Amino acid sequence: MSFLPLADVEVNNETQPFWDALRNNTLMLPRCTACQSVVWYPRAHCPACFSTALQWEEMSGRGTVYSYSIVAKGNGRWKESGPYVVAYVELAEGPRILTNIVGITPNDVHINMPVVAVFDAGDDGRVLLRFTSSS
Ligand SMILES: [Zn+2]
Repeated sequence: MSFLPLADVEVNNETQPFWDALRNNTLMLPRCTACQSVVWYPRAHCPACFSTALQWEEMSGRGTVYSYSIVAKGNGRWKESGPYVVAYVELAEGPRILTNIVGITPNDVHINMPVVAVFDAGDDGRVLLRFTSSS
């Protein structure tokens, strides 16, 4: 697996539980108790029905590739990282997350490929949610 540098993250009161959970190798997202939608990205209200009745819930970490692109040559800190995969992963629980597919040759990635969460840790304590093939 080639090393793919981590993006900067912005932690605030609404996203803190998400980032804390990633550091424990767990994917937690808020679920709306009014309409049952899983909320991505984490925030204080449900974007589907505007309810503020949200409850943090552990996700399965499983999903499928909804769409993806292979980046041959990145910018900035990713300048030496290509080729790598930027993808939308649709979680089993519903949300589509912009992420990376790692640990697989980029040309082997395909739409509808089953994937599982990877908790990609940096030296500074940051942990990013990425995915790898589960087949
Ligand atoms: Zn809702």
